[in-house]
Amino acid sequence: MAFMLNSMFFCYLCDLITNDINTNKMNTDMKRMKNWVLAATLTFCGAIMLTSCTDAIGTADNPVNPNPPYDPAGELASETFLHEEWMDRSVKPGDSFWDFALGSWVKNHDSMDNGTLLNAYLNRLDVLMTGLLESASDHHTLQLLMGPKLTKEEEKAAMGRVYAQLKQGDDISKADVIYNIGKMADMGFYAFMGHDVLNIDGAIRYYIMPGLACSSIKLTDSKEEHLQEFKLIFEEWLDIDTSTPEGAQLLSNVYDIEAWILKYSQEWKKSEPEPALIGNRRPGLKSDPVLAMEALASARRTTRAGDDVMDAFREAFHIENGTYYLPETDKIFELIDQYDIATLQTYLKFYLYYKLYQVSLSMAVEPVNVIVSLNMYAPSMFLKYQKKYLMQDADCEGASQVLEQLRNVMSERIASLDWLSDATKMKAQEKLQAMVFNIGAPDDLFNADFKLTGQTHFEDFVQYKEQADDYMRNQLAGKPGNQYGWEYIMVSPMGASIDAANAFYEANSNQLFILPAFLGKELFPADKPAVRYATITVFGHEMTHGFDNKGATYDAMGNKADWWTAEDKAKFLEKQEQMINRYNELEQYPGVMADGKKTLGENIADLGGFSMAYQMWNEKLQADGLTGEALRHQQRQFFVSYADYWQCNEDEKLMKNMLETDVHSANHNRANGIARLMDDWYTLFSVEPGDKLYVKPADRVKIW
Ligand SMILES: [Zn+2]
Repeated sequence: MAFMLNSMFFCYLCDLITNDINTNKMNTDMKRMKNWVLAATLTFCGAIMLTSCTDAIGTADNPVNPNPPYDPAGELASETFLHEEWMDRSVKPGDSFWDFALGSWVKNHDSMDNGTLLNAYLNRLDVLMTGLLESASDHHTLQLLMGPKLTKEEEKAAMGRVYAQLKQGDDISKADVIYNIGKMADMGFYAFMGHDVLNIDGAIRYYIMPGLACSSIKLTDSKEEHLQEFKLIFEEWLDIDTSTPEGAQLLSNVYDIEAWILKYSQEWKKSEPEPALIGNRRPGLKSDPVLAMEALASARRTTRAGDDVMDAFREAFHIENGTYYLPETDKIFELIDQYDIATLQTYLKFYLYYKLYQVSLSMAVEPVNVIVSLNMYAPSMFLKYQKKYLMQDADCEGASQVLEQLRNVMSERIASLDWLSDATKMKAQEKLQAMVFNIGAPDDLFNADFKLTGQTHFEDFVQYKEQADDYMRNQLAGKPGNQYGWEYIMVSPMGASIDAANAFYEANSNQLFILPAFLGKELFPADKPAVRYATITVFGHEMTHGFDNKGATYDAMGNKADWWTAEDKAKFLEKQEQMINRYNELEQYPGVMADGKKTLGENIADLGGFSMAYQMWNEKLQADGLTGEALRHQQRQFFVSYADYWQCNEDEKLMKNMLETDVHSANHNRANGIARLMDDWYTLFSVEPGDKLYVKPADRVKIW
């Protein structure tokens, strides 16, 4: 569902991308743009953990053996690691594994450094973008972008042509406003209300939900602060004089609406509401149509305006039998009821112009920046070209084999878990076996059928959204729920472009997606096993999302279902509590602790991903015939490479922002938080009681 989908996108670095955090900040300069991609990238997902059942050191039963038959500290001191230059050997690994692995690099580099693993991929995107523009002879939007730059007046005129598709004038009614909201939703702008498709009861259903604010504001900042920014849009783009009492009132009202929707959307997303059916119940469906009709009736009562408003609603949102409705949408009718038509229309115009402005503002510098923006909102618009550049060295076959291997590893691990009953294990195995892997990019270029004929990239964007929306409603809706894959990702409002450095798991259909960033020579190299296996932690991370605190509430077919025995569920909750505590013990930035609860799902996924990839790493080392120190060195290398994977210079602002808005742990905590739960880490790096990251063996949480 949209809500679950959110968490799926959170899962890749790009929660940040699809949502608004970074779009607000999108700046006109290329460096910032890159920074934005980077910030998004850095959030991407990592790995998991389990018991070290293939512990090749042989210390699993006595993980803090004070007298191993070798001298780990001496070995560590004499060994050299890949990227030794990044390490800070003056830091004890047990005090901060992150600083041990990356301390020298962090001291000498700012967040824009080009030397990181992820930056290597981002550099490739630069090449891709340029190549895309040069080779785009048959793509209408790209042709437009290569043409003369639009002046501000031309941009305004283009926005005006989009706005002209809505009903306007002094004599419009609330029913007309509802029509406008529906029309905007068809164009991909979810002011007040929006729509999506979702797997409900085994099939993809079309449904209506409350709209999301454009999130040009942060609720923690003052209204005054934001009014300055709003004022700019009002004066320069909407031509509303805010120095008049009417203009000032409109400005204030628009802010209030925006703040209300933002606050409310955060609430309803958190509550993970279930859509209910409008119209006739189909046999075998669990959702209750009576409830939905009551919801609609209550909306009708609320909007005193009467049947004409509800008729407009039905028409504007394509409501027919089989449409679902999120009862939370009622509140939106209440909100609409509170304001006059002039205010509502101004809000719609503000919303539309602001979103278009976001798509366009980077145009001031380079067309490639517009492509980045368009990609974010129209993920399949450039798919054909992206595939050409991103898929040429993508090791899809290798990734597919690795994922099947991971499936086997996880299956073995589930079978040997001591805290789950056979009944729950069976359900977990069922879910694992049914999980669908989507690797790389869709084969079918359905978007070749998109007809783009606008005078500007704005209009092409809106045309694209209308067609994607239509496809979603009329082609996707009605299909079996676990049989949609890429097409959904490419057309859904929550969609993602394949050039994002991301991977994700979608609980509603029990599918995982690995995008090309994780398949190319930078992050999935055949000749650098430590890097390749660090990426395998990401694959395992996504797989584990199917079994994290949220994923575990969905079944093999992607339906919300409780497949746990009461006793097992209680144990799982207890483990979750332990995980929350472990991460609450870590610092987000000096003086401020991390939020173990908010990051729980991601941390469980990190733990699973790490554990499985580490197990596979050990199996590989054994197959390679490594023993003794050579073996232990490679095990240590794995831990170091895992920390390297999260390489990032985390300034306090980024850390604060992540704490507020991101469901992922800070990068240093992704490294430290997992290492301290792994028994092998203690022996390999001589970590002892008294070290800052030390965790008693009994408190080292093991889940999957
Ligand atoms: Zn994740």
